[in-house]
Amino acid sequence: MRHYWGYEQLRPLQEQAIRAGLEQRDSLVVLPTGGGKSLCYQVPAALAGGTDLVVSPLIALMKDQVDGLRQCGYPAAALHSGLPADTRYALEHEIRAGRYRLVFVAPERLLASNFLDLLDRLPVRAFAIDEAHCISQWGHDFRPQYRRLALLKRRFPRASIHAYTATATERVRADIIAQLQLDHPTMLVGTFDRANLVYRVIPRSDLDQQVREIIRRHKDQAIIAYCISRKDTERLAGVLQQAGIRAACYHAGLSPDQRRSTQERFAHEQLDVIVATVAFGMGIDRSDVRCVIHTALPKSIEHYQQETGRAGRDGLEAECVLLYSPADAIRWERLIDRSTQEAERPAETLAAARELLQHMRSFATVPECRHKSLSEYFGQPYQRGDCGACDVCLGERAADAEANPEDTVIAQKILSCVARVEQRFGIGHVVKVLCGSNDRLVRSFQHDRLSTYGLFRGHNAKTLAGFVYQLIDQGLLERTSSDRPLLKLNAASRAVLSGERAVRLVRPKPRVVKATELDADAWESVARDLFESLRELRRQIASERHVPPYLIFSDASLRDMARRKPRTPTEFLHVHGVGERKLKNLGPQFLAHIAAYCQRPALEQ
Ligand code: ADP
Ligand code: ZN
Repeated sequence: MRHYWGYEQLRPLQEQAIRAGLEQRDSLVVLPTGGGKSLCYQVPAALAGGTDLVVSPLIALMKDQVDGLRQCGYPAAALHSGLPADTRYALEHEIRAGRYRLVFVAPERLLASNFLDLLDRLPVRAFAIDEAHCISQWGHDFRPQYRRLALLKRRFPRASIHAYTATATERVRADIIAQLQLDHPTMLVGTFDRANLVYRVIPRSDLDQQVREIIRRHKDQAIIAYCISRKDTERLAGVLQQAGIRAACYHAGLSPDQRRSTQERFAHEQLDVIVATVAFGMGIDRSDVRCVIHTALPKSIEHYQQETGRAGRDGLEAECVLLYSPADAIRWERLIDRSTQEAERPAETLAAARELLQHMRSFATVPECRHKSLSEYFGQPYQRGDCGACDVCLGERAADAEANPEDTVIAQKILSCVARVEQRFGIGHVVKVLCGSNDRLVRSFQHDRLSTYGLFRGHNAKTLAGFVYQLIDQGLLERTSSDRPLLKLNAASRAVLSGERAVRLVRPKPRVVKATELDADAWESVARDLFESLRELRRQIASERHVPPYLIFSDASLRDMARRKPRTPTEFLHVHGVGERKLKNLGPQFLAHIAAYCQRPALEQ
């Protein structure tokens, strides 16, 4: 571990996982994203000295890992359909000669008969199945190709099989074990809590404005913003570009070339913000993503955990903001209904999808510590009282403040307007009436003559619509699930109108964001200007060598350098993430840079 990676300590469960690998005991390792799963198969393969196989679902993912390993001097290769025939042939030859400790393959390549023959001659010691949840239809990323991995156990009875995943509920876990036919596997399940992430759930009022504001807090840093639809990503990316932000959109409707180029520009720090659908993620290994924004509610906590998991994989602090509107859940319900109908899937799939959505919705609306809610969802008790790293524990939520008597009045005005338009219109129309809009439709129904017309004149329509959604979410107002949903009153609405029931509304927060403890710790005694200039040096070297900057050094390494300011190669070797190869390859340049920094007159430092 020191030799190749320059790490000092194993993380929780890595030792047990590595031992299982060395002793060829089947295992299932469940660690959160960024938990360090790859080391668990990389280390045993290096120590055993044979050739181990890694099954991985995406070419981009394997290429990235192999590039990273090569920067550390670790003998690894990836075999995939993207390679020209002669390169592949040469590579197969080298594999046969035992040149590599690890070979990464996609499942379809692994199971091709000529490749299986090659493996017969190796002999293979162990298989690592990365993203193993892909084998289960109960997981959120089922890939039918993975099903065929079931034959590995029969075909290679002497090899051990090690499955790795970040998300696995009981059911998915059991499925992985059954499908892969693991033999009395060692089960290693890590904690799901990502202590270095700060979670915030904020009511969405003015999306563009809110997103710009969040991005401003993370100037020049890597950010991913998730949207529900392709169209949403294109629109938001456009808005951000116009604001001078280096942003691009990413979704499955783009050509493979466009997608690849966007990924690469992001990896090479030429782009700061990717606005994406869920299609973006697995292939991206940039470990210094400092912020993940959800512009709308994800459809399950599994998705949320997976997507927010892409923040702060380097273990440094990162922020996850969910901009939530009750309208999102309604939108998802419709999408789920439609896709179930189109795919003619059984009714239970629909029920399951709805249930997942309902969990996500309560996560967003129940004011409970986010770290606690997430841990408990994944079946792990959360012991810390105040996490110090979520909007609830940081006391940022407006709703937790004193009830505002004005809120009930606002609710009454909205509800009586719904009554005045005879419960025959949707949100858009009701908001127009309340705002006193000079809209053609409003006039043609003579709604400009209603007593509720213009009650909120001069107010922001989006904020007002946000209030309407909150009433729906709190069950104080109904919205039909037809194609053009209408607002309807119910018993609770009447209780509010008659003054029997008080209402509380969440307002968009004044934008004060407290610095968290995490932030302060991570920057303790780091020379910030040195860190920034080391980042620049890293960028230069990366572009000379045609690799993404994070493969040169992680942010964690740069911060450690800016803290220790090493002067000699031995001191440099003590920096987090510096192994033998990087000392030799990169040490001289970085040491010279740090020396130059330290020689500047004290005043400048
Ligand atoms: P996962 O596959 O579980 O999402 P990775 O294997 O990609 O996570 O590891 C995340 C990051 O943490 C990588 O940059 C990896 O090199 C680093 N890492 C792994 N193990 C350790 C360790 N013991 N000490 C320090 N860094 C580690
Ligand atoms: Zn908390």
